[in-house]
Amino acid sequence: TYTPTFDHQLLERLRGAVRGDIVEPGDQGYDEARRVYNAMHDRRPAIIVRAVDAGDVIATVDFARDQGLALAVRGGSHSVPGYGTCDGGVVLDLALMRGIRVDPDSRTAWVEGGCTWADVNHATHAFGLATTGGVVSTTGVGGLTTGGGMGYLMRRCGLACDNLVSADLVTADGAFLTCTDEQNSDLMWAMRGGGGNFGVVTSFAYRLHPVADVLGGPTFFPLDGDVIRRYRELVDEADYDLGALLVVGLGPPVPFLPERWHGRPLCGVIACWTGPEDEDDRVRERVAALGPVLGRHLERMPYPVINTLFDDLVPAGLYHYWKGTFTHGMSDGAIDAFVEHGGTTPSIQSVTVVYPLDGACRRVGPEETAFSYRDADYSIALSGTFTTRAECEDQKGWVRGFNQALEPHSMEGGYVNFIDGDDQYRVQANYRGNHPRLTALKRRYDPGNLFRLNHNIAP
Ligand code: FAD
Repeated sequence: TYTPTFDHQLLERLRGAVRGDIVEPGDQGYDEARRVYNAMHDRRPAIIVRAVDAGDVIATVDFARDQGLALAVRGGSHSVPGYGTCDGGVVLDLALMRGIRVDPDSRTAWVEGGCTWADVNHATHAFGLATTGGVVSTTGVGGLTTGGGMGYLMRRCGLACDNLVSADLVTADGAFLTCTDEQNSDLMWAMRGGGGNFGVVTSFAYRLHPVADVLGGPTFFPLDGDVIRRYRELVDEADYDLGALLVVGLGPPVPFLPERWHGRPLCGVIACWTGPEDEDDRVRERVAALGPVLGRHLERMPYPVINTLFDDLVPAGLYHYWKGTFTHGMSDGAIDAFVEHGGTTPSIQSVTVVYPLDGACRRVGPEETAFSYRDADYSIALSGTFTTRAECEDQKGWVRGFNQALEPHSMEGGYVNFIDGDDQYRVQANYRGNHPRLTALKRRYDPGNLFRLNHNIAP
């Protein structure tokens, strides 16, 4: 068992300062509290602080810094490299900070740092409003937004970080700074893509858009290069009101897909049409024209529902190993790689997801936010996901082989939220021309690199 060695006087002071829970090894609930989404990361922190407000966050940041302990910041807990936990250090868990206030007049939502997209969608849908979030509702707003943030609404509304209008940030020295385009604007710039490097966001404010019900869901096809080529044409032509993710993998065991396709290689388009309802049939036909339809569930639904369609396929507690890349266009070579590798995964949960990065994402220049890949056409997530540790080496091999096959057809970087812990060496390439400015800001706001459990911008 792990024995903490830190200064107990400081720990007593922390107990007096914090209104949330403090969980230590030996406490009932420690094993539950230390668990993160990705089962690969079985770590034993010295303490876990479940903060309830900005005061708790400040006290915990001060404690970790003064003790010289590693500090893991956890929002929705979905970090694939497991940055929401650590061995022997402090976990600052924001999962009790889930308050949301929506102002329908100014179309703004104030969202506490531990919220998930399910929380946000529920609160904003009451007003017929939404903003870009991830495709799985259990993902946290914290990691997703600070890394960039891709999802169904990105072609119409931009990345999640493009909709961020303000953030309350606790920095490494324990200061509380409200960041906007006018106030602490350098930090605001850095938080739109720079990840958790600059502090802990206790509250995000997002711009909202009129999105209530959508035509959404998957249409599945055989895994065939011509289908993917037609998908490429669809993205080139379609209104930005159409979100259209390409998925490649094995047929999921869902009732609308004939059983003989369960577990067999296929591809699919997950559509999310936010335009007029009287164009639904046109959209259905346009998607169906990509190839022979094996099964589909493309229906009118409230926006929060499309965000939950895949939640059950990826519950907490599975094992994950991921890689990510960006591409200029989608070359025939990349399509060959999808066809050759996409369906050879040994696991039904593993999937490749392709996010088109055009439309509103393109209206922002590469230097206007820390997220620099505004000239990429697609962001690709290679998600190795499996149910037992024994599959780990096979799965890692599949992800790495696929990634290598895509490399000649890819740009240098990969999205920080899709790359794994062994991709730290790619961080500089990921930020391209923005890296020197990010490094200078890191030196100013976190010279001791307290916030280092992330895709790290070293001071
Ligand atoms: P956590 O593990 O809680 O946090 C990860 C890191 O983010 C922390 O270490 C910290 O550095 C930082 N962080 C978290 N909260 C805060 C905060 N309040 N203030 C400052 N820093 C913070 N990404 C997409 O863009 N689009 C998708 O559609 C998408 N789908 C996904 C689906 C699944 C099933 C999974 C596992 C991941 C998905 N991702 C997606 C990737 C996702 O964006 C990252 O895993 C992200 O880091 C998750 O954020 P989190 O708050 O849940 O994670």
